[in-house]
Amino acid sequence: MNARRYPHSVDVVIVGSGPTGAAYARILSERAPGATIAMFEVGPTVSDPPGAHVKNIADPAERARAQMASEGPGERGAKVANPGAAKAGVRGARPGTFLLEDGYAFDGEDGMPVAAMSSNVGGMSAHWTGACPRPNDSERITFLPDLDELLAEGERLLGVRTDAFDGAPFGAIVRERLSAAVDEGRIEATRVQRMPLAAHRRDDGRLVWSGSDVVLGDVTRDNPGFSLIDESLVTAVLRDAGRAAGVRVRDLRSGGEHEVAARFVVVAADALRTPQLLWASGVRSPALGRYLNDQAQIVFAARLRDMPPLDADAPATGLAEYSGVSWVPFTEGMPFHGQIMQLDASPIPLAEDDPVVPGSIVGLGLFCAKDLQADDRVAFDDEHVDGYGMPAPRIHYTFTARDHAVMERARQEIVRLGEAVGDPLDSRPFTLPPGSSLHYQGSTRMGVVDDGTSVCDVDSEVWGVPDLFVAGNGVIPTSTACNPTLTSVALAVRGARKIAAVLSREQVATESIAV
Ligand SMILES: Cc1cc2nc3c(=O)[nH]c(=O)nc-3n(C[C@H](O)[C@H](O)[C@H](O)COP(=O)(O)OP(=O)(O)OC[C@H]3O[C@@H](n4cnc5c(N)ncnc54)[C@H](O)[C@@H]3O)c2cc1C
Repeated sequence: MNARRYPHSVDVVIVGSGPTGAAYARILSERAPGATIAMFEVGPTVSDPPGAHVKNIADPAERARAQMASEGPGERGAKVANPGAAKAGVRGARPGTFLLEDGYAFDGEDGMPVAAMSSNVGGMSAHWTGACPRPNDSERITFLPDLDELLAEGERLLGVRTDAFDGAPFGAIVRERLSAAVDEGRIEATRVQRMPLAAHRRDDGRLVWSGSDVVLGDVTRDNPGFSLIDESLVTAVLRDAGRAAGVRVRDLRSGGEHEVAARFVVVAADALRTPQLLWASGVRSPALGRYLNDQAQIVFAARLRDMPPLDADAPATGLAEYSGVSWVPFTEGMPFHGQIMQLDASPIPLAEDDPVVPGSIVGLGLFCAKDLQADDRVAFDDEHVDGYGMPAPRIHYTFTARDHAVMERARQEIVRLGEAVGDPLDSRPFTLPPGSSLHYQGSTRMGVVDDGTSVCDVDSEVWGVPDLFVAGNGVIPTSTACNPTLTSVALAVRGARKIAAVLSREQVATESIAV
């Protein structure tokens, strides 16, 4: 891991070390153990093992350093806003992320003012909340018959489980109250339940959040054919006779440029920078960057009513330890995804002069599915460049009348949910600025046929460019409200299996020729 030697040639280059790039490395390590894999990541390594979640870093100063080091090429520190900033109308990024400098909104459009990215080994999964629900109803990709098996495999890779907060004394009470308000008429799968989380408890009781380190796993870290090279910006995908043939990569430490030949190239560089790299490489299919969608997010807070006194042995760290993380699944009838959890991840500040029973305040969040439009897009041009010198993302984004209606329904619903669990802290809910969900999808979407409305096929292979694969939330073709990472890791599993199968076949063919 972290070798500084750039290879001349490998079987597979992976661009980006977030969970979807890591899923390719893991499946290839398991299924094509002889394959050589080079993963390039533009950001630095900020945790140990590489890709680990920064919340697992015990020392707060060290954790803050890891977050700052993930915040991209611009000025560090000043842009990190406190959680109340969004409410106060300040354009702020969450720790570990950075915003677009400009091009996030255009006249007459809603734009996406807080569209964010992370640049570090592990990508956003070194900073995420780890919520990994499965999609429901219209969120599901109907043309993938193996979707459930792929999701199960994604859960294995991410280490998803539902028992991380089973010791939380208020969790069951929150869910009981939510259930009474929403479960009527729902099938079991869409009733209120514990949120599946990419987190587990160590034997000593300490919570460990999954990052890309968990997705990579020992099988990848121990794979002699695998190398991860950080602070390396891939500036172009190279092609030979139309097929992907390698990448051009810049060593950000030395400034040196390298060409690395590859049998396959996987671009897993997030939903804004995967289309960026394709565009910079001259791969500009009609759907590239289009159908961009983010989940409008409505938040509210309530103080739990009539809470029983805490036992003497109740957990003493973190509000999530008291109330856990609960899930109200998306349904067609209620087209939002609900996440109810501790308030330290919410943009609503707690009042300092109001003593609060630990864990008795919960934040409620409803994520709304967007009406998909081809004109909602991340675009690029020859004029504007980002902090890395790559074509700068320019975002065109507009809510439809239906989007406004869904958001209004979500605002009414969240007040109802808040009142069901306790006493609301605010008179009305708050709608976060577009981009807040950090769940950008659709920009390299998957499709069944190459009809100009998709960028890649069902294996994530880019139409018209054999051997080039895309990964990440951008590949998700449906309008979802639930957190997307589990789904995008599942889609990565499918693509990785395809590459592994081809490499294994070629290996067998080579061996038989040699014999
Ligand atoms: C605070 C927070 C909370 C979140 N909570 C949740 C949640 O609960 N559930 C959920 O599903 N999702 C959540 N997310 C989103 C989740 O983290 C992302 O969906 C997930 O990380 C996407 O994985 P990825 O591999 O596609 O991309 P990323 O994790 O973004 O990784 C992409 C990587 O590619 C690198 N890269 C980009 N361009 C280049 C280039 N040209 N050369 C080399 N490297 C490049 C980037 O630096 C980055 O490290 C959250 C995110 C944040 C920040």
